[in-house]
Amino acid sequence: MARRLPGDASQRAVSRATYHARLERGWPPDLAATLPVGAPRPDRPKPEPRPRPEPRPKAPPLPAPVPQTKPSPQDARLARKLLRETLVACGVCPVCETNPARPNRTRCAGCSRRVAEYGRELHEARRRAGICVRCGKNPARDDGVFCETCRERANDEQRRHRLADPEAHNAGVRARYQQRVLAGMCTWLGCKRAPETGRRMCRTHLDRMTELSLASQARRKRGSLDD
Ligand SMILES: [Zn+2]
Ligand SMILES: [Zn+2]
Ligand SMILES: [Zn+2]
Repeated sequence: MARRLPGDASQRAVSRATYHARLERGWPPDLAATLPVGAPRPDRPKPEPRPRPEPRPKAPPLPAPVPQTKPSPQDARLARKLLRETLVACGVCPVCETNPARPNRTRCAGCSRRVAEYGRELHEARRRAGICVRCGKNPARDDGVFCETCRERANDEQRRHRLADPEAHNAGVRARYQQRVLAGMCTWLGCKRAPETGRRMCRTHLDRMTELSLASQARRKRGSLDD
């Protein structure tokens, strides 16, 4: 049988069994082994050396990390205050720091509602616990919701407001008074009771008013005696 070389077209026509039998016998022959020793191996064109990729430009070195020191509480407070003032000046709600503030107001609608709700809850919780609703630290005075210190401060503020703008002060007082009358409440600020029939205050506060007016009369009398 004539030896056929691989790649001969006639080879494709053998059966599977023949093909495997040939493989067993070591077919196809190693052409290189059949070449005479020392003969130059058939030349294959040498592959062109691939061009080396351009070296990537080096990233600039990172700046040295800034040492992170915690700001002092005073600095932190000042920073918060500045941020708040900036936001307010730009017309941005300082609570969510996102939404525009309502016209002529500081906060956005959602935040002002939430803040008011929180304030009401806090007020109620403090009042129930018998502590001052303003500072939340000292016990409240027996006759009110403020502690001694906060009552004095509130009185001072009220006095200053009254002196600075008497009309606005009087308008506020009248409005609150009217509100209480319309709501059917004792007109003593902070009192939750209904007034006595035909009167504008509850029994307790009518008595308290009498006491106060007697005391002031006495003071006046003493004052005039002193002169
Ligand atoms: Zn907001
Ligand atoms: Zn207080
Ligand atoms: Zn009352």
